[in-house]
Amino acid sequence: MNLPKKVTIVDVGPRDGFQSEKQFIPTEKKIEIVNGLIRAGLKNIQVSSVVHPKAVPQLADAEEVMTKIDRRPDVSYRLLVPNLKGVQRALPLKPDKIDLMMSVSESHNRSNANRSIDETLKEFETLVSMIQDKGIAVSGGMACGFGCPFEGKISFRQIERVADRYLAMGIRSVGIADTVGYANPKLVYHTMAHLLDKYPEIQWLAHIHNHRDLGLANILAAMQAGLTEFDAAIGGLGGCPYAPNAAGNVATEDLVNMLDEMGIACGVNLDALLEVAEVVRETIPHPLNSALLKTGKPWVLAKAPDCQIKLG
Ligand code: ZN
Repeated sequence: MNLPKKVTIVDVGPRDGFQSEKQFIPTEKKIEIVNGLIRAGLKNIQVSSVVHPKAVPQLADAEEVMTKIDRRPDVSYRLLVPNLKGVQRALPLKPDKIDLMMSVSESHNRSNANRSIDETLKEFETLVSMIQDKGIAVSGGMACGFGCPFEGKISFRQIERVADRYLAMGIRSVGIADTVGYANPKLVYHTMAHLLDKYPEIQWLAHIHNHRDLGLANILAAMQAGLTEFDAAIGGLGGCPYAPNAAGNVATEDLVNMLDEMGIACGVNLDALLEVAEVVRETIPHPLNSALLKTGKPWVLAKAPDCQIKLG
């Protein structure tokens, strides 16, 4: 089996997860959860999104969270930013990386951002130079990379159109998302093998949702294609406005467990991570999509029954 020795996990729960919750998660809880993730060994955390508070009221406290969490030099603190106003607010917060987000599907991009792909990319050219001028890393997002709720299947050409423009802007880190959970392991394998081969200068990342319980299978397929960087969310948090009742991202603890069991390093301590997942469970008022929170770690052996042969 062709698998990497080491994988990088980006926990996007504090952004993708908290923004999907109906009720506002108290700022202090957000800070506690981010700090817990850092203590568990996560080196990449998408802390929040800098968007208009009317659009995403759940993340209106992005500034407060960013300024109050523990900042360590070996951790990359990321902010998701959709537009110019977001970049202007994000830069003073000194994130280590800014994740720009758009869709490779024209209709999904219009529905989400109210503008065309070309209009979005044109603005991104300005944003990327503003971000890079401050010495901050930048990544380009690709929503609906494995299927769109309006257009259905997505072609390699649609992905390459955006990848080529990202490359021309100097972006070398790109995240491709299964936004609505249409991916399957074969599609993920072929897409990632194609992109890794065609764009070796890009560090690719996959953002996999678990809407139809194919999340870990899709990540396994991506690893077999050579991918080594994945988003996941503590507690399996996350959702999708186009898929009611949708499950969230792959739970970070489920991914870490799979990697641990297969001997693939990710630098995360599963016991410490499960403590954070428990805090998330206490905080979120609905059941979480986390296999490990339901069943616990494997290899926790029970006491064997007393089998002594009784003589006499
Ligand atoms: Zn997502």
